[in-house]
Amino acid sequence: MNSHIPESLGRMTEEPMMCAYCVTEPGAGSDVAGIKTKAEKKGDEYVINGQKMWITNGGKANWYFLLARTNSDPKAPASKAFTGFIVEADSPGIQVGRKEMNMGQRCSDTRGIVFEDVRVPKENVLIAEGAGFKIAMGAFDKTRPPVAAGAVGLAKRALDEATRYALERKTFGKPIVEHQAVSFLLAEMAMKVELARMAYQRAAWEVDAGRRNTYYASIAKAFAGDIANQVAADAVQIFGGNGFNTEYPVEKLMRDAKIYQVSKRERANA
Ligand SMILES: Cc1cc2nc3c(=O)[nH]c(=O)nc-3n(C[C@H](O)[C@H](O)[C@H](O)COP(=O)(O)OP(=O)(O)OC[C@H]3O[C@@H](n4cnc5c(N)ncnc54)[C@H](O)[C@@H]3O)c2cc1C
Repeated sequence: MNSHIPESLGRMTEEPMMCAYCVTEPGAGSDVAGIKTKAEKKGDEYVINGQKMWITNGGKANWYFLLARTNSDPKAPASKAFTGFIVEADSPGIQVGRKEMNMGQRCSDTRGIVFEDVRVPKENVLIAEGAGFKIAMGAFDKTRPPVAAGAVGLAKRALDEATRYALERKTFGKPIVEHQAVSFLLAEMAMKVELARMAYQRAAWEVDAGRRNTYYASIAKAFAGDIANQVAADAVQIFGGNGFNTEYPVEKLMRDAKIYQVSKRERANA
């Protein structure tokens, strides 16, 4: 294994540092093997050209994990065609775009990044030339459980807000929680939160037990993402008209939840 990996991770614990995962491009998101950014070997360096899109922490990261095509043969299989690089964010030739204005998660910094003749020493190749696709995909086993945990946290907050509101808000002479349609809904929200929690804990537990967790991590992320959206929308429903209003907390939760279903890639918060 390349000696750069522990070095890059180690320095993140020594001082406040950020990194970003640069895979998606304007023309390729779900279809990772469709990325066009290329890295050409020239002597002891690689020269990188291409454009990345939707990069979380794009404007904050000190360094990037970058996936680029290193095999010019379009018929080369994905398992051999791509290479993962560590790229310093202050390398000449990098242009970071404006912060994107997103529906939710607005504290998160998402940007496009252009790489123009960016020179990277060959020591910055992760593992080996051609190993990039496996690295990029393998990262999800570790990132999906914590991303699912974030989705569960959002759902739990929505449940708590809705429960508190249902105990206070009165219609037809009694708190709305005493209308069975509302209490049944709260019960279903609670079941979903607890099951999604168990799903990500199972996925994380598999890692602790030293077993490959791809199956459980995928279930946890997909399930928790859906649950976050359902529970946040139910919370808005329980708040009635107030749920649609920015003075109350649940419309923000509904907007923040959507990314958990959109982004297949696990960035810091989705
Ligand atoms: C806020 C935010 C942050 C992000 N952060 C990062 C990041 O840090 N790093 C990074 O690399 N990327 C990041 N992404 C990108 C994210 O991973 C992609 O947006 C995601 O993978 C979807 O790709 P796409 O947007 O190109 O959609 P597309 O791939 O164009 O998909 C469009 C629609 O088609 C559907 N679809 C696509 N292929 C299929 C198929 N085979 N079968 C059925 N349906 C299909 C999709 O589910 C989707 O509904 C981020 C995105 C957002 C919005």
